Amino acid sequence: MRLTYQYRLLRIFMNPMQKNIMLLLAVMFLPGVIQLRAQSVSIVAAENFYGGVAAQVAGSSAKVTSIMSNPNQDPHEFQTDAATAKAVANADIVIYSGIGYDDWMEKLIDAQAKSGRVVIKVSDLIGAKDGENPHIWYNPKTMPALVAKLAVVFNKPEAVTKFAHSMKPLLDKIARLQSKSAGVKVTATEPIFGSMATALGFETLNDPFQVAVMNDTEPSFIQTAAFENSLTTKTVKILFYNSQVINPTTKRMQELARDNGVSVVGVTETQPADMKNYVQWMLSQLEVVESVLK
Ligand SMILES: [Zn+2]
Repeated sequence: MRLTYQYRLLRIFMNPMQKNIMLLLAVMFLPGVIQLRAQSVSIVAAENFYGGVAAQVAGSSAKVTSIMSNPNQDPHEFQTDAATAKAVANADIVIYSGIGYDDWMEKLIDAQAKSGRVVIKVSDLIGAKDGENPHIWYNPKTMPALVAKLAVVFNKPEAVTKFAHSMKPLLDKIARLQSKSAGVKVTATEPIFGSMATALGFETLNDPFQVAVMNDTEPSFIQTAAFENSLTTKTVKILFYNSQVINPTTKRMQELARDNGVSVVGVTETQPADMKNYVQWMLSQLEVVESVLK
C-alpha cells in the first residue's frame, strides 16, 4: 500500500521518460515477477481452464500442467497422487480456484514450500468468498482478472488487451442473449452454470437441491419435491445438468424434464478436450442455450 502511495507521489513530479523507467523498475522488483527469458517456467494449474489461459499468456516458453482435465472425473471427488504432489513441489507458478473447490491444492502448497513460487488463488482475484458458488470460472469476470494477474507476473502488460480481444465474442454473445434470457426461470441439478446464469439474468430455482448434489449428498424429500414440481409444472424453461457426472437422481430429473417439455442442457465442469480454449468452450455452451431459448 505504502509503495503504491509513494509511486503516485513520484508520478506527479516526473516527465514521461522518467515515469517509464520508474514503472519498469517497479515491475522488476515487484514480488512474484517472473523473468521468462532466462529459463522455462513451470506452471501447474489445478484445473485445465486456468492452465489453458495461463498458456495463452505465458506463451511457448512455459510448461503448463493442468491437474483436472479428465472430463470423466468428478473434480469435487479428486484425490491427489504422488505425481501431482511432485508437479506442485517443482512449480514456479501454481494456479487454483479456491473457496472449497480444490482444497487438495492448498494442502499440497502448504506441505511443500518453495522459495519464489507464485501462488495464484483465482477466487481472491474476484473477491469470491467461502460459501459462494465455487464454479467461479463461469463468471465472465474471472478469466480477465486472472489474465490481469498473469500479465503482472510475466511482465506482459499487452496480454490484457490481447485477452480482452479474445473475450469479446463471448461478452457480445452474453449481451445479445440477455434480451431473451433475462427473467427466465431455469434450474440445474448442480450449480456449475450458476454464475453464467446470473450474468445472463436467468432466475435460478432449487439452489439447495443443487448444493446437495454438488456435495454428493442426497437432496431432502422437500428439495426433491420442489425440484420435480418446477419441471412438471413447466415453471422452468431449462434444466442444466452436469454432463460429466451421472447419477440416478440427476438422470431421473433429466427424464422428467424431457417428459414435460423442459429443455435439457448439459454443461461441463472442466474444459472438454475438443475445445480449443476457454472462450470457445463457453461460446459452444451458450449456443446451445440460445437454441433452446428461441
Ligand atoms: Zn462442480
